[in-house]
Amino acid sequence: MTDTARTVLAGLDAARGELEDLYQDLHRHPELGLREHRTAKKAADALRESGYDVTEDVGGTGVIGVLTSGDGPVVMARADMDALPVRERTGLPYASAEKVTDEDGQEQPVMHACGHDVHVTCLIGCARLMAEHRDVWRGTFVVLFQPSEENGDGADAMIDDGLTDKSPRPDVVLAQHVLPYPAGYVGTRAGSFLSAADSLRITVHGRGAHGSMPQASVDPVLIAASIVVRLQTIVSRELAATTPAVVTVGSIHAGSGPNVIPDRAVLEINVRTYDDATRTQVLGAVKRIVKAECEASRSPKEPEFERLSSFPPTVNDDEPTRRVADAFSAYFGDDAHTVELQTASEDMSEIPKAFGVPFTYWAIGGIDPERYAEAVRNGTVAQDIPVNHSATFAPVQQPTLGTGVSALTVAALAWLGN
Ligand code: ZN
Ligand code: ZN
Repeated sequence: MTDTARTVLAGLDAARGELEDLYQDLHRHPELGLREHRTAKKAADALRESGYDVTEDVGGTGVIGVLTSGDGPVVMARADMDALPVRERTGLPYASAEKVTDEDGQEQPVMHACGHDVHVTCLIGCARLMAEHRDVWRGTFVVLFQPSEENGDGADAMIDDGLTDKSPRPDVVLAQHVLPYPAGYVGTRAGSFLSAADSLRITVHGRGAHGSMPQASVDPVLIAASIVVRLQTIVSRELAATTPAVVTVGSIHAGSGPNVIPDRAVLEINVRTYDDATRTQVLGAVKRIVKAECEASRSPKEPEFERLSSFPPTVNDDEPTRRVADAFSAYFGDDAHTVELQTASEDMSEIPKAFGVPFTYWAIGGIDPERYAEAVRNGTVAQDIPVNHSATFAPVQQPTLGTGVSALTVAALAWLGN
């Protein structure tokens, strides 16, 4: 299998310049979730040119490409395409100056601050090399370009638009993410990899009154304050010390002046957990505490809960993870690692779940290895190395792109190359 990978990847050096041009072009022209029209067209055009059967506009801007080389396993590799409303401060010659106008008529800067341009470039590169060498592998290679990962609704949009009818059913789904590790690094992890993330808006109701007459009021500011404090007991008192979880109240709004008791307060909270049981338990505890505090304060109306976004936990299946980890060790040697548990979140796992098939997801590094090593020596990784979503997140082009193309190809061939 490693020999097959070397055969397919022999063309990587020659493709390097073209891939860097593509990467710079994508980086210069980032698009927000469900608006990735230009990016999707680039992907679809590249796939068609390489001989893939292409389906466009799946769930908005999603693209599926299918290439078959005889009977054999079906492997799906997925890349996300969307960027973020961040003003780029990398100083790169190919930095983004893009802006979009939001619903309120406000201009927003847009940046590929999460490296999804790396993912798109690497998947296009892998798709091309796989097409050029279809004589050395057997089966079906499905490449999928997904919209709107950052909003947590892109995978669902493709599924709701009939993904499982529009694509062959894969035996396994593969995906990767560039993270702040040294470029050249590849990291797999069996089991829990990324957290689930649930964001809620909660409105609690009181009775408005004059600030001098609390007896005429039900004070929602006090209810909200009690909720904020009490929510902290979920992680500290209801979960085992060995069960990681985060409950954050990120926003709280009530009132308009010092002498008016308002009639409502709005809290926005974010919950991170690593498995379905803990997720259900923590979200249930949030609801229970909010309701009980409202009742304790004689709130005149039930609190309202609105789900703002929701990401499932990303829990890698054991068998495909072991298979990819073995293939990475054989191909990358010392650059293949086990990556630690991450607190970020992803909607990628919705795709294999829709097909009822296993998946594995891995990390590639994007930081200049010398810069990273220096930060490690100085003990300043947290301060000096820009992380995803920051305005200075700037993966170095190489070896990041080469590693990303190689990782996808080596992983796909762990099924198709045998
Ligand atoms: Zn992101
Ligand atoms: Zn991302």
